[in-house]
Amino acid sequence: MLNEHPLLKYLRPIRAGRPFAGHFVLDSIEGWENVQLQLRDLSTEEMYALQIFLKESSPSQCLLFFSLDSTKTYSHDVELVINAIKTIIRKNTAHLSDWELRGLFNSYAFDIPQVRDVEFWAVLKGLKPAQRTEIEPSKYPRLKEIYEKNGVYIDCSSFVFGYRQDMMEKLSADAPGALIQYYASKDKRKVALLKDQEGFQFSNLLTEEVAKPYSQVIAEAIKTHGQLLGYPLCCIEAFQKVEHHATPRIFFETFRNTTAGARAELNNLEGEMNFISHFPCSFNCAPSLQYVRSLLDAFPLSDRLEAHRGFYLYFINGGFIKLKVDRSTNPWAYRLIKASDGNCKGSLKEEPCATVYKHILEGDSLLALDRIEIYKKGSRICSIGNKLIDWIAVEFE
Ligand SMILES: [Zn+2]
Repeated sequence: MLNEHPLLKYLRPIRAGRPFAGHFVLDSIEGWENVQLQLRDLSTEEMYALQIFLKESSPSQCLLFFSLDSTKTYSHDVELVINAIKTIIRKNTAHLSDWELRGLFNSYAFDIPQVRDVEFWAVLKGLKPAQRTEIEPSKYPRLKEIYEKNGVYIDCSSFVFGYRQDMMEKLSADAPGALIQYYASKDKRKVALLKDQEGFQFSNLLTEEVAKPYSQVIAEAIKTHGQLLGYPLCCIEAFQKVEHHATPRIFFETFRNTTAGARAELNNLEGEMNFISHFPCSFNCAPSLQYVRSLLDAFPLSDRLEAHRGFYLYFINGGFIKLKVDRSTNPWAYRLIKASDGNCKGSLKEEPCATVYKHILEGDSLLALDRIEIYKKGSRICSIGNKLIDWIAVEFE
């Protein structure tokens, strides 16, 4: 954690592993809402923990607070060092806006531009050539400011859209649920290309019918588009084979292509928590995995992995059910985590997802082999066949 914590750069000139004030070293920085610095006195090997946290004194003003364990007494030396650290942090963060300061004390500290995903950071670090993300129009101006301040070019779509069930529709900017896309990259050309291409693609998708020869045009756009965004070619091609836009079917194909163990890093069913913004060709796609690993090496994001672990039942007509396997009581015991809420991941209202969900609420353990069998206190309460291969069970590890 020491090398990557975002607060570390505001501790300059103190450097990790190098003694300061004669004989103190910084051993670790941990935590978010409440950041803890561990200092070690090299001459006595005593440890000192300094807590730093942010208080919002008013909606527009954030203040930094520092606290030491009040049950201990400290030597004059320690007090001097602690005061020096406070001064350094205060001085180095003075130019930050409240928004940026909050970013440092947020569990998504990589979230400075208040984008819940990690794309901004990937673009900033050069792990990804460009980014495309949807946002509410009112949030865009502030975002633009932050991106530009960080040397990242940004532009937004001229079209405004919204989702109705699984379909996209044209909307006016002030309509409820209105969204725009924004495109960002360190390369200005890529931003312009993405904006042009997607404008073209969407203006045609959002008219009544997509004529047959035109689907080819869209397929081509998806390819260049995917490449501009740095998506692996295997994943672009897998996507093209199935769909022209996100639907439950594309998720199902990814499940079906997953022959070996599914990797939590590639689970893209967790919305804003996802590490990837593309549809992987499988949940163990090697280039996609390599990308997420480089992201995890660069940012302290591993805590997020936990949210991507679990056992999922995915249904071809749409919808998923996520369970946590609890092997402490019996090998198939579960705890219901959540079910899909009806976007491109599919809806719980669809059959057979709805039926399975109903029984899962009643039961306590489950077997999903060629049939889904749900048990309650050892007796089977339902058995659902898979004649049409209409569901897939995968555990993300
Ligand atoms: Zn792939």
